[in-house]
Amino acid sequence: MKKLRAIFFDLDETLLDTSGCRPPAVEASFRVAAQKYPQLDGEAWHRASEEVRAEMHDLWLNSSNSGAELLREGAYRILKKLGIDDKALAPHVSQAYYLTWVSHLKLFPEVPEVLAELRGRYRLGIISNGPSDLQRYKLRLFELEREFDPIVISGEIGVAKPDQKIFRYALERAGVSPEEALYVGDSPVYDIVGAKGAGMMMVWVNRSGVPSENLDPKPDYVTQDLSSLLLILES
Ligand SMILES: [Mg+2]
Repeated sequence: MKKLRAIFFDLDETLLDTSGCRPPAVEASFRVAAQKYPQLDGEAWHRASEEVRAEMHDLWLNSSNSGAELLREGAYRILKKLGIDDKALAPHVSQAYYLTWVSHLKLFPEVPEVLAELRGRYRLGIISNGPSDLQRYKLRLFELEREFDPIVISGEIGVAKPDQKIFRYALERAGVSPEEALYVGDSPVYDIVGAKGAGMMMVWVNRSGVPSENLDPKPDYVTQDLSSLLLILES
């Protein structure tokens, strides 16, 4: 086996805990809309938000639009579903949503220590799906931009996980072969399929303990959080 030289990380739900972000963000966006349209119903707003999220799922993965534009479009669609055609209000609604969303964003507690241990020993990179502006903003918010090189974001290159091309592009940027690289991520669909397809070793971060028997392909290692990553690397 070749010596491990580079470790690539997924961002959302691997390094960043987004679990508490959406409910208060949807609520904040509702409050802004309801200021102008008091007839709006909170429950209907939440339902419409979920529908729009599902509708726009693919667009979020590798759209060349900025996240700000996608959020505006999302707000406009929610209003439209509820019978309101108001292009001028949409940016205010999306801004309330996003400011609240990021204010609830957290770094998983073990991340700083794990990165400190790996820093200098391995080349560390990011491979993330999402729009450039939002993913970069999150990295800067937690001072993570300087920790990783390369930082590869689907919205910047027009290819998203699980497409092997985004993994190969990142490997090339780091100057390592797939056998010299490890990928760490939480999503069976995007991370395990993508990284294994590209020939990399894969650590699956299974924080919520979902059953793993039926995974295909299988990750090389499974861990509940990142604190055991070093143990895995030494094994
Ligand atoms: Mg993820």
